Amino acid sequence: MNESLHFQPSTNTPLIQLKNLTMQYQEGVQQRTILNAVDALFPQGKFTVLLGQSGSGKSTLLNLIAGLDQPEQGEVWVANQNMTAMSEHERTLFRREHIGFVFQFFNLLPTLSLLENVILPLQLNKIKNAKAVAMEWLERVGLADRYAAYPDRLSGGEQQRVAIARAMLHQPMLVLADEPTGNLDTRTGDQITELLLELVKAEKQTLVMVTHNPAMAAFADKVYVLDGQKLHEKNG
Ligand code: ADP
Ligand code: MG
Repeated sequence: MNESLHFQPSTNTPLIQLKNLTMQYQEGVQQRTILNAVDALFPQGKFTVLLGQSGSGKSTLLNLIAGLDQPEQGEVWVANQNMTAMSEHERTLFRREHIGFVFQFFNLLPTLSLLENVILPLQLNKIKNAKAVAMEWLERVGLADRYAAYPDRLSGGEQQRVAIARAMLHQPMLVLADEPTGNLDTRTGDQITELLLELVKAEKQTLVMVTHNPAMAAFADKVYVLDGQKLHEKNG
């Protein structure tokens, strides 16, 4: 892998920089603009909440930050690397090593056991002692005794715990979560949020979370609202 892609921690730069970011989707003969020349900074080692109405483009934005999509215009920088300028292969390697993603619908692989699900990112990153590390993380999310179970045996909250372990155990610098509690009841959702915040804090990771819950803003270091194709910083 390209040596320059290795992350150098730096305290005085934001982890994520969006520069003049524009994203459009083609709908029939029309172009629909979802993001229009967005400029934004996401601080390193902090928790940023991203609010916005359904359909405003939150998932689109998170996918751009993860390098899963490419913008029409502008650039996404993560850890001083211009992800937009990378080849697709470089972006894949960068994402695999440095980014963890938590989805609304968990996205565990149904034909793999819990242990096999969480081992995957370790194998992809060629991390040694994969099994021991994976078991340790299942322990941290309270599911070590279920390691041999398949995802369909678990409740939604339990599946999301496993998904959190999978997103974090290869120690990515950046964790992106797209409405991670959106498919859970309030009490379970609160427990999942607490777990996620506790883990990213312990690991000193940067967390960007999309949520419908405006109350989450109280826990965040920075809050953005996506509205009218722009990101607006919300104070206090
Ligand atoms: P949010 O996550 O805020 O609910 P999304 O980012 O999923 O919003 O979607 C923003 C808008 O872009 C929606 O109108 C959606 O229908 C549209 N959209 C999302 N993905 C695509 C796609 N791949 N092709 C065309 N339109 C899309
Ligand atoms: Mg969404």
